[in-house]
Amino acid sequence: MEASEPKFSVAIDGPSGAGKSTLARAAAKELNFVYVDTGAIYRTAALYILRKGVEPGDSAAVAALLPEIGITMAYDGGGLQRMLLNGEDVTDLIRTQEISMTASAVSAYPAVRAFLLEMQRDMAKKYNVIMDGRDIGTVVLPDAAVKIFLTASSEARARRRWLELEQRGTPKDFDVLLRETRERDENDMNRAAAPLRPAEDAVVLDTTEINFQESLERIIEIIRERTGL
Ligand code: C5P
Repeated sequence: MEASEPKFSVAIDGPSGAGKSTLARAAAKELNFVYVDTGAIYRTAALYILRKGVEPGDSAAVAALLPEIGITMAYDGGGLQRMLLNGEDVTDLIRTQEISMTASAVSAYPAVRAFLLEMQRDMAKKYNVIMDGRDIGTVVLPDAAVKIFLTASSEARARRRWLELEQRGTPKDFDVLLRETRERDENDMNRAAAPLRPAEDAVVLDTTEINFQESLERIIEIIRERTGL
């Protein structure tokens, strides 16, 4: 694909555990778009902050670390997004619950958001992207051709996470997961900088009562309708 061709951007936002990444990745594969997981970018920054032993609640200390953080994305043969932190592949290290909570805390800081903004926009300039996150339709790509706000009840999202951890052999108590899901929602929706909310022109898709395949079909249908692809 030539860099100069006009690009289509699809923004998929929503709370944690709504199935954004699995659905966005599957839709990108079907439509031959590049899938960009922006949560992974915040997670990579969170890993650096944790490794440095900086308290996530200390906004000044977190901001002071930013110039040391070099984040790059690479795509492997299967189109999977790899995250590089100062050259080290940390893709498999950023999926812990500790990183989830730290990413959620530090992503509230405007300095952190500003620091990570351009790399997200650059991807959309270069490729047809399906980008998932919290503020893609509202802040990162306000002109995206398609905006979808994917949501589900907190119970349904905690249940999916519970099942995933159970299948991975690292089970966790459902009530703890539900509490953490709600805590992250609370952080993400109530922060002053780029809070999680549907863009005015977003299609809201609630997946509480529908399964993965139905959700995927609906997303592809919405994208096709709006882009004519
Ligand atoms: O999507 P994921 O759960 O990997 O994101 C981790 C955290 O990063 C979220 O809880 C959210 O606080 C933050 N995030 C964000 N804006 C994005 C993507 C993620 O604030 N675009």
